[in-house]
Amino acid sequence: MMNNKMFYEENMGGVIVGGRRIKSIKFADDLALLAEEEAILRDMLLEINDICEQYGMKINANKTKTIKTIKKIHEESIRCAQSLNIVPEDALFHKNEHFLNVTKIRNLLRNREFDIWCRHPEKGKDVVLFKQYPGANKWICKHEGHSNSEWRDGIKMVGNVAAVRAVSGRSQDNRCRHCHNEVETLAHVLGSCPHGEALRNARHHQVRSIIATALKDADYNTFEEVHGLSVTGSTRRIDIIAFKESTRSGYIIDPTVRFETDEEQPAELDNEKKEYLQSYHSLLPQKIPAKRA
Ligand SMILES: [Zn+2]
Repeated sequence: MMNNKMFYEENMGGVIVGGRRIKSIKFADDLALLAEEEAILRDMLLEINDICEQYGMKINANKTKTIKTIKKIHEESIRCAQSLNIVPEDALFHKNEHFLNVTKIRNLLRNREFDIWCRHPEKGKDVVLFKQYPGANKWICKHEGHSNSEWRDGIKMVGNVAAVRAVSGRSQDNRCRHCHNEVETLAHVLGSCPHGEALRNARHHQVRSIIATALKDADYNTFEEVHGLSVTGSTRRIDIIAFKESTRSGYIIDPTVRFETDEEQPAELDNEKKEYLQSYHSLLPQKIPAKRA
């Protein structure tokens, strides 16, 4: 039926593949027209339409689509890379091909976003902390045993960006619904809100007794909640005193559970505790027989 001039005689339309001009691809009642320019493709379609009409047939416009393919794929790939602020290095292209390797581009963009996130003044500090305690944080790299949502929530909680304020009942200004002292973050709820003080104390006592039990098991003379007075007369309380008479040495332990904030936190906390206990050491109870505890 397509015994038409443009289609079969003129050097118009189609694309050259392997030295041959291909103008159309036909399969059952489907027809694909090929052309290098949109105007020529339109002419070809009008021509087909004329022929169809002669035979009482109609082209279904709803089922007709135009697909634009890229002719100069290398140039187009370079343009795409530049639009993503990527230097189109050879390594980013498929081997012996002219188009970009999508996996490599995706990894590059992912690493770039990760670097931006790491430099974020708030969220970025968590990356440092995750690195600092690989033993405790190995679940971040290997999320076996957690569902995706549990793993994601865990990271949000460690990073103090969990949506506690999303819980119903929060006040309008994001301040803690109980004490109104601070913005209601997980760190505030767990670490400093007076509303949770009893729970916090219970947690502290639990941690203290775990440590004390471990010391007893290791043959230390162990005392918990040892009270005394500092040199200035104020009350001091030591969580654990543990010593071994055989070695005449021991430990003063004051366990504290703090929400991780920055790299310097452990050293700062250590100094804070030492300062608190410094004035106490001269008044150590008679339980300590040694010159040093
Ligand atoms: Zn509060």
